[in-house]
Amino acid sequence: MSTNPINGRSTSVISLIIPVHNEEAAIGPFLDATRAELDPLHAEGIEFEFIFINDGSRDRTADRLIEAQRSEPRIRIIDLSRNFGKEAAMTAGLDACRSDAAIPIDVDLQDPPNVIPLLLDKWREGYEVVVAKRSDRSSDSFLKRSTASMFYRLHNLIASQEIPPDVGDFRLMDRQVIDALRQLPERRRFMKGLFAWVGFRTAVVEYAREPRVAGQSKFSGWRLWNLALEGITSFSSVPLEIWTYVGASISALSFGYGLLTIIKTLYFGVEVPGYASLLVSMLFLGGVQLIGIGILGQYLGRVYAEIKQRPIYIVRREISPQPQDNLVPIGQRTRRRRSTRSV
Ligand code: UDP
Ligand code: MG
Repeated sequence: MSTNPINGRSTSVISLIIPVHNEEAAIGPFLDATRAELDPLHAEGIEFEFIFINDGSRDRTADRLIEAQRSEPRIRIIDLSRNFGKEAAMTAGLDACRSDAAIPIDVDLQDPPNVIPLLLDKWREGYEVVVAKRSDRSSDSFLKRSTASMFYRLHNLIASQEIPPDVGDFRLMDRQVIDALRQLPERRRFMKGLFAWVGFRTAVVEYAREPRVAGQSKFSGWRLWNLALEGITSFSSVPLEIWTYVGASISALSFGYGLLTIIKTLYFGVEVPGYASLLVSMLFLGGVQLIGIGILGQYLGRVYAEIKQRPIYIVRREISPQPQDNLVPIGQRTRRRRSTRSV
């Protein structure tokens, strides 16, 4: 068997990181489609494992995964103690992955498995990150497409770290990148931003986003809004700092208006009417102050969440195909980090 140029060994192992939340109907089609695509790569010295993270599903997702594992020993199941959200579930998967590279992928086949060989080709060319860019998003609704495009534009305008537009979590990351990500200690994890933050040599592969194979999207408008807020507050302090300038501009305007009023009074005497302008300016300033306090609150809430240092996720059990290490005791795989840890 020839030696693999990436790691000097005869084979490379790639982990698919698959967060699942109430996806009982999607698991079967996902496994069929990915195996059809990936099994032929065995001849090229590339092996796969499937790390499913059951993110607090309330349907039969866990049973479906255990059933599938009986005939597919490459499946590992990490069962979280409740629903922690996709970002935390992906973190759990990356923490559990020991292989040469990892590919986070959605179970609903919206990230088509036939893109994986293209990601691997670029990896073998020496890129440490290969992102999959959605060149065709026509399967998403108009509202989702336009709000997503607005988000990317605003984020990249004000954030310290740009994120490439239309690139989701579907990407290949080399071992070095996974290790770098694992050093980032934050609890509130906006993965797209963290992926971009760690850097490394990045290649882009384009694909058309497919419609969901089964079930429904878990991301409502409200959840997407919160994810967008997370992204902006995690990577920019512009919303906090802008108030200095808003305040300074309003003060300068008020000063000018005050001068004008004094001059007018000196020339034309005291003018009583002014009820409307007084009310409008009071309400306007009250609104501006509340927005400012609200934004302070957004950041303060995040500081509070970070300072509590709770683990990002809790593993209830890890189910691997070998009978001897079937169950890992509760709490043992909880991820904790010291506050002093630096990146
Ligand atoms: N997901 C998860 N935890 C959640 C929500 C979603 O693990 O709290 C998983 C879900 O099972 C799927 C992936 O994240 O594998 C993407 O979710 P979805 O397809 O609903 O998102 P969309 O494609 O609509 O953005
Ligand atoms: Mg989806």
